[in-house]
Amino acid sequence: LSRLGDELRYSLDNLTETVGDLAVPTVRLGVTGLSRAGKTVFITALIHNLVNGGRLPMLDASAEGRIARAALEPQPDDDVPRFDVEAHVETLLTERLWPQSTRRISELRLTIEFESASLLSRTLGRGRLHLDIVDYPGEWLLDLPLLEKDFRSFCEEALLRARDPARADIAAPFLAALAAADANAEAVEPTARLLASRYTDYLGACRADERALSMLPPGRFLMPGDLEGSPALTFAPLDPATLEGSPRPGSLAAMMERRFEAYKKHIVRPFFRDHFARLDRQIVLVDALNALNAGPAALRDLEAALAEILAAFRPGRVSRLFSIFTRRIDRILFAATKADHLHRADHDRLEAILKRTVARAIERAEYSGADVDALALAAIRATREASVTHDGETMPAILGTPLPGERVNGDTYDGNTEIALFPGDLPDDPEEVFAGSEARNPPVRFVRFRPPALQTTAEGATLSLPHIRLDRALQFLIGDHLA
Ligand code: GDP
Repeated sequence: LSRLGDELRYSLDNLTETVGDLAVPTVRLGVTGLSRAGKTVFITALIHNLVNGGRLPMLDASAEGRIARAALEPQPDDDVPRFDVEAHVETLLTERLWPQSTRRISELRLTIEFESASLLSRTLGRGRLHLDIVDYPGEWLLDLPLLEKDFRSFCEEALLRARDPARADIAAPFLAALAAADANAEAVEPTARLLASRYTDYLGACRADERALSMLPPGRFLMPGDLEGSPALTFAPLDPATLEGSPRPGSLAAMMERRFEAYKKHIVRPFFRDHFARLDRQIVLVDALNALNAGPAALRDLEAALAEILAAFRPGRVSRLFSIFTRRIDRILFAATKADHLHRADHDRLEAILKRTVARAIERAEYSGADVDALALAAIRATREASVTHDGETMPAILGTPLPGERVNGDTYDGNTEIALFPGDLPDDPEEVFAGSEARNPPVRFVRFRPPALQTTAEGATLSLPHIRLDRALQFLIGDHLA
């Protein structure tokens, strides 16, 4: 009997724990962006600053000294990999190198205890907020439209694009393999593998080549996550002219169609239903500086890519596809990352260019009801500002330590030498960087700097990771929940 009592008490304890936890408000924050936009660095800096009481004057709760504690807690979803923040912090602070970038979805729960700003709420005790951060590759959002397509329409669209004269050379190896394959012949794995790998190479090449539009589904072909090499990704579009009404069982066409359907069912649907549809807030990170340096064509390409990605955020889009109740994303923030490559005078100009880049995408997506904002930030500031006098003229400059092996003006650096650099100026009118087709002189000199060494105060306390406008991003994303 006493054992039964113990068990009963145990399950009651568990129950109160669960109920207690349910009462804590939760914000699920999606962090996305194309590969190397800065997702990993952003999340790591966000957590490091909140947990270590970093300088966040534009986050009201922090400026007013109301954040009592922020700590990592077990995440709610046991089947999602955990964002490896400890390893990333270790790489950043101990090795002073950048952490391993995002390759798949991961999650982390940060619980923030705060004093409410209002006297009434304060008398009820300390507030708690679970901030569940979900990191995922922006490439995966390209797959949403696939859910509404059958294999034939996927093939039609894919082949139309592959045969576009602008990409003829990039698509040639795939088209040659396709021409040599017989859709109605017996399916054999090597043919499927050859077609899939040529198609993957073609998508990758589109991306590397700035003439071509970079963003084509399937998104996992660009960013496979844990599925690299798995049969779910071993398919490719076939020539629609060779597809019969319903493919003969056992044929290559039947195999490809089945795998396409499996990709939708087992990979795309679960991601949108289990992860994307549950987000409350979203930040979309954009490496606008990189595109800026590559010239107007790359910027226009980035604009188009973002429009495709953002289509997924259109209200009702996901819920209609799943006929389930979904949470609604009520705030979306676009952030141009790595602003520490610019002098302060240029941060607002970078912001203006970002706003211009996403303007059409935002318009098209009709985010009725959602607050949308855009800003330029550096989640981790790797540079300092200075002025340099050259030929009697004083110019704003940035100081930073180039990564080991980084080449600047023909010199290769060892990772221990700080240099001063005139970073370049962005134009006041954002239209200027979109106009024309040729890349002019790159407007920004883009050197990959080492992450900063942590500074200590006179009292010996270690300061948190420096940033630019990370606090403004946080105020927009979670400030209202800490009020
Ligand atoms: P992800 O693919 O979106 O996860 O991109 P990461 O967060 O790994 O960032 C890609 C690279 O961009 C990093 O390795 C850094 O070199 C650089 N980077 C990202 N954020 C910053 C930043 O705030 N400042 C600087 N200087 N570099 C950054």
